[in-house]
Amino acid sequence: MRVTVFGIGYVGLVQAAVLADLGNTVTCVDIEQSKVDALKEGHIPIFEPGLEPMVKNNYRGKRLLFTTDAKTAVDNAEVIFIAVGTPMDQDGSADLQYVLKVAETIGQNLTNYSVVVNKSTVPVGTGDKVEAVIKEQIDIRGSDIDFDVVSNPEFLKEGAAIADCSKPDRIILGSNSAKALGVMHNLYAPFNRNHKRTIVMDRRSAELTKYAANCMLATKISFMNEMANIAEQVGADIEMVRNGIGSDPRIGYHFIYPGCGYGGSCFPKDVNALIKTSLDHGHTPQILQSVESVNAAQKIKLEEMVYRHYGTNLAGTVIAVWGGTFKPNTDDIREAPSLVAMSALLEKGATIRLFDPIANEALCAKLGNPDNLFTLDDPMEALTGSDGLMICTEWKMFKAPDFNQIKQSLNHPVIFDGRNLYDPETMTELGIDYYAIGRGKSV
Ligand code: NAD
Repeated sequence: MRVTVFGIGYVGLVQAAVLADLGNTVTCVDIEQSKVDALKEGHIPIFEPGLEPMVKNNYRGKRLLFTTDAKTAVDNAEVIFIAVGTPMDQDGSADLQYVLKVAETIGQNLTNYSVVVNKSTVPVGTGDKVEAVIKEQIDIRGSDIDFDVVSNPEFLKEGAAIADCSKPDRIILGSNSAKALGVMHNLYAPFNRNHKRTIVMDRRSAELTKYAANCMLATKISFMNEMANIAEQVGADIEMVRNGIGSDPRIGYHFIYPGCGYGGSCFPKDVNALIKTSLDHGHTPQILQSVESVNAAQKIKLEEMVYRHYGTNLAGTVIAVWGGTFKPNTDDIREAPSLVAMSALLEKGATIRLFDPIANEALCAKLGNPDNLFTLDDPMEALTGSDGLMICTEWKMFKAPDFNQIKQSLNHPVIFDGRNLYDPETMTELGIDYYAIGRGKSV
């Protein structure tokens, strides 16, 4: 099929590559000329495992095209995806300017019946707005072209996006149009061959399904962080508790890891957007408000550990930091807890020696390239001359390091672990001071 994707970001590029890989002809449109030029030269703007070969292969095969020219991209498209950002606005709501701008562009250029599919995460009712904007533009041209707007929220996880997109747990289609659903069933037929993954519903329910899913996941994290904080106070070990409750199949082991708070481009903004939507409709979303405030408090846990150990004047203290992305296997640093921790320590006068396998440069730039922040290309090098080690992201390579080397490299061996990677008893045996999240015995 002929598909167009607006927005070459984490969602748009992955979706485009996966659809092209199945044989569709996919045109990707972005407003950033440099991104389009880079892709044409084989440079992938984001880090996502498995994405680069898939993009290059399909570009070479002319199934994947990149352009800034919306007119040619919309012309003849059977399906047009909107996959642009919906960042958090100042009042917490989702900023729809990019989505509505794409809708306007589509309306200005549509030449044939097309299904406009909204993949961006948008508040309930946005489908109606997109429809109205496209219709308005078609009317201005004096044309009478038919189209449908379908909600098809994306559930991929950064770091596993190709797998998630290729074998989705479910495909949510929000539409009442039999014609549009027919087109979408055709497009997604390869994903439904093994078993049926598509769930059809009305557009508003589809839009809310995405927020409900992300808010449920964020709730699990904040709940576990609350349990961790209680565990810390009463002298229990949250990791024991996690194992204990996860064994109940009604609870399960997934997504119940305590830590230094959730970040990323989705949970913070989506929780806030749903809070705003609820309040706008006269409902106080008490659980969501608590999820958000627990997370905000959790993000300062790491710096608090450091103050407990060194006091709040950190002039002359050197901290090695391992990991800065909001989670492993991605280069995404949006709303990363590491940024909160590092900016606090830098402000208190500490020197930071940072190692992240992917995002050293981006983290440094985000923190304003201060003189007391150094980046290293090797995790052990970051320890040299450092007093303590702080872990912000659970990259695989940090899970079983050479503890003796850590001990020898640090001036006074201490680890501030925001991801509970190590066993407190082992740390005690090794003579390493170990601060973790909700592990009463270790602190
Ligand atoms: P992103 O910021 O990585 O990419 C967005 C892209 O859209 C950018 O390249 C930008 O230049 C482009 N863009 C902006 N305006 C445009 C326009 N008028 N025409 C063409 N391109 C335009 O965003 P993302 O992380 O891919 O997220 C996109 C949407 O998907 C968001 O609503 C997000 O909430 C949702 N989502 C994201 C994820 C994720 O893990 N990143 C997962 C599920 C859903």
